[in-house]
Amino acid sequence: MAERMLQFVRLSQQTPEKRPAEARRTDFGEIYQRFSAERAGQQASRCSQCGVPFCSIHCPLNNNIPDWLKLTAEGRLEEAYEVSAATNTFPEICGRVCPQDRLCEGNCVIEKGFESVTIGAVEKYITDTAWERGWVKPPRPAREVGHSVGIIGAGPAGLAAAERLRLRGWKVTVYDRYDRVGGLMIYGIPNFKLEKEVVLRRHAQYAEGGIDFVLNCRVGEDVSLEEIRGRHDAVLIATGVYKARDIGGPGGELDGIVPALDYLTASNRQGLGDSVAAFEDGRLNAAGKRVVVIGGGDTAMDCVRTAIRQGAASVTCLYRRDRANMPGSLREVANAEEEGVRFAWLSAPEGFVEDEAGRVGAVRAVRMHLGLPDATGRQQVEPIPGSAFDEPAELVIKALGFDPEDLPTMFGEPALTVSRWGTLVIDRRTMMTNLPGVFAAGDIVRGASLVVWGIRDGRDVAEQIEKYVLAKTSPAMAAE
Ligand code: FAD
Ligand code: SF4
Ligand code: SF4
Repeated sequence: MAERMLQFVRLSQQTPEKRPAEARRTDFGEIYQRFSAERAGQQASRCSQCGVPFCSIHCPLNNNIPDWLKLTAEGRLEEAYEVSAATNTFPEICGRVCPQDRLCEGNCVIEKGFESVTIGAVEKYITDTAWERGWVKPPRPAREVGHSVGIIGAGPAGLAAAERLRLRGWKVTVYDRYDRVGGLMIYGIPNFKLEKEVVLRRHAQYAEGGIDFVLNCRVGEDVSLEEIRGRHDAVLIATGVYKARDIGGPGGELDGIVPALDYLTASNRQGLGDSVAAFEDGRLNAAGKRVVVIGGGDTAMDCVRTAIRQGAASVTCLYRRDRANMPGSLREVANAEEEGVRFAWLSAPEGFVEDEAGRVGAVRAVRMHLGLPDATGRQQVEPIPGSAFDEPAELVIKALGFDPEDLPTMFGEPALTVSRWGTLVIDRRTMMTNLPGVFAAGDIVRGASLVVWGIRDGRDVAEQIEKYVLAKTSPAMAAE
């Protein structure tokens, strides 16, 4: 092992510098600065090159983390990029948006008392450098093989599969109902976590590599699943989950109460230079308003932080449990607090109060207390009698999670099997649905998940699609 590794005893953990909260409240730029070359090398050198690297085991892509950390510490960045890109389709995106505290870094086993290696920040540094130096190339195959795949959904799962199959010489067509590529990476995740240029440049390269994108095309309306099946040797459904969970209670229909994804999409579109009527007329714009966001996950954190940047008069996050029981990343909660978000813990909405103009004027909420743990070990919450209160708000954003849309109906394909949660049922080994030659991957199979899992599924399903089509067209090759 190079002597330059194992530096955790000498060098302390340093994350990339965070821009001051006062500055970042006023724009949508990413909040973390980039590592300098020197800092990236130093931080990579803290790795102790474990024989059994738990960081890799807990990375959904099983990235060869110790290898690329060592190469970075040695200044061999092009090789580090190659090793990193061999297992990850979008290392620069995962470096920005993975909840590393729950995945790779949370399982880094540097000796007790020393903080984990800053794996995500180094991964981002390696690939951002690769882009700058022209090492990232379009997916151009050595030869065309003549097989064709139709991919429905240009999110991380669909794109990861598209890249793998294009590299193998397939003709790849990606259909998406949106006008831009990236799925939730372009219209869900805000710019301050993932600058949109990072996604757009991948789209440009894929198009250059020969992947066909058919955008503004809603499968089920503009073209049927059956037609797509007729055009390609195999089809991949990677349509994600978009049906917003709702809360009941009186007043739920009042103007001024909006679903999280509508709000975030309008903000992202506006940032991309689109003219968004509902933003301009104020319906999906927090400027000058008292804003209440309901929910405690990462989507809620994205909403509160977007509202701050839009110039809200105040932003309150209403969550029925306490900080320790939040489903969202604690890092994002801390960022939100620094930026001026107020958290009303142990507060659950019961309804909405109408103002004089007939719009929402407040959220009626009740205080909760944590009771005994249930069978899963999670503490139950119970309302405290007589504790109702009104939280004033001119804009209420509901961020309570997502379920799949009714895909068999949407696609006019009643035979497509779904689970009781509405997710597509696949054969776990072949990743194929019950329709022959129709595969599925990403959130539409897992339920709302993570970009990194979408990438993993997309890469895995590409292999399965290739096996399936080869077995049909050239059984001898498939058996090799
Ligand atoms: P998606 O990214 O949802 O892509 C599906 C695509 O299918 C979309 O482009 C959609 O337009 C298209 N589509 C759907 N139906 C049709 C149809 N009928 N015809 C044609 N096209 C169709 N994950 C992280 O790892 N880190 C984060 O910080 C993070 N933040 C998030 C913030 C928000 C607000 C949200 C909502 C999610 C976040 N996630 C995050 C989760 C992550 O974005 C998703 O898990 C991931 O994008 C799922 O990938 P996917 O390819 O399965 O689906
Ligand atoms: Fe960590 Fe995500 Fe990168 Fe894996 S892909 S090493 S989990 S940041
Ligand atoms: Fe290095 Fe930590 Fe991974 Fe061990 S667990 S190989 S110290 S990054």
